[in-house]
Amino acid sequence: MDRYLVVGAGFSGAVLARELAEQLPCTVDIIDERNHIGGNCHTFRDDQSGVMIHAYGPHIFNTNDEKVWDYVRRHGSFRLYVNRVKAVIDRGVFSMPINLHTINQFFGLKLNPNQASEYLAGLGDASIAEPANFEEQALKLMGRELYEAFFKGYTTKQWGCDPRELSASILKRLPIRFNYDDNYYEKKFCGIPEEGYGDVIGSILMHPAIHVRLGERMHPGAIPHDYRHVFWTGPIDAYFDYSEGRLGYRTMTFERIDAMGDFQGNPVINYPGIEVPFTRIHEHKHFAPWERHERTVAFREYSKETAGNDIPYYPKRFSSDLKILERYRERAESLERVSFLGRLGTYRYMDMEAVIRDALNHASSSVELLLNGRRPPLFPENAAV
Ligand code: UDP
Repeated sequence: MDRYLVVGAGFSGAVLARELAEQLPCTVDIIDERNHIGGNCHTFRDDQSGVMIHAYGPHIFNTNDEKVWDYVRRHGSFRLYVNRVKAVIDRGVFSMPINLHTINQFFGLKLNPNQASEYLAGLGDASIAEPANFEEQALKLMGRELYEAFFKGYTTKQWGCDPRELSASILKRLPIRFNYDDNYYEKKFCGIPEEGYGDVIGSILMHPAIHVRLGERMHPGAIPHDYRHVFWTGPIDAYFDYSEGRLGYRTMTFERIDAMGDFQGNPVINYPGIEVPFTRIHEHKHFAPWERHERTVAFREYSKETAGNDIPYYPKRFSSDLKILERYRERAESLERVSFLGRLGTYRYMDMEAVIRDALNHASSSVELLLNGRRPPLFPENAAV
């Protein structure tokens, strides 16, 4: 019977391991250097307050993909959850992403949807035909005043650079709405697992052919030869010992606040101003409105450059990073029994749902090839630089 090794027990590794275990006569070892499964989606029940904490920052599942939504709900009970975010600036508290309420409140107007759309078109910089970066995208869509109030400072803090150095696609993650819908996400299905992500990922890994080993760091050079294939979901630059240089990531640090009752009255409040050192505060009991807790726990979130053993969060994907990535991808070509997948393995800015879809697709093409005596694809199909 073939043995496979999956490195990394986040969504990517867990979904892939499960598909292999179900579709092939095999055993799958899945290892993770941390002492928990779930990667950055890890949640735990806090001893002091009883609140379910999202250890690496808020994770709200959102997708349009029914297949992915059904998949996660087969492995855990999801409660529908709408994320409503506020932003505090010197002029007051506003709704994010920008919607009709934000526009009317910000400009002291009473516009209807059509009027607001025309009004914003008038504010936008019409001279920008093809926005070349984040700032141009914002100036074209909303004009300088809204951009500077809500995006410029936040983005500078979040990414540690001038927004002109960032891709316009980062801003495109957020909608601008000309109605009062204040759901942060545009997706059809939004939810949070009732018992946390560990419950969901634990269920995915619950299969007699899967063996989970935690707190184990695997050096690529030390991978035993009897594995038919290795699926690496850790950072691709770590696989090659950073020999071509480090890929840039932003990492987050969290400052814990313990209080009684309700600290801020909302799950997430953003602080876009550059004068505030953190980007946002999240209060975790509000991610589970179906629970009741007397105590509360919130975190101020700070963003910084990843160094040393910091946990990588957001891939920066600057052009210098993409050049390094190209070199790692070229080196990967010569590997015979390794594939790379997931946010870290492919160095892409991916939401949980995209990670799961990729892992399912990668597993199905891998299984077909393995059954025909061939090697699985080096990267998921859509992971080109
Ligand atoms: N952003 C901002 N102000 C906000 C919220 C978001 O400038 O109040 C920018 C920021 O650059 C961020 C991007 O919009 O990286 C995308 O936001 P999103 O919430 O999608 O980021 P994520 O969920 O990945 O943290």
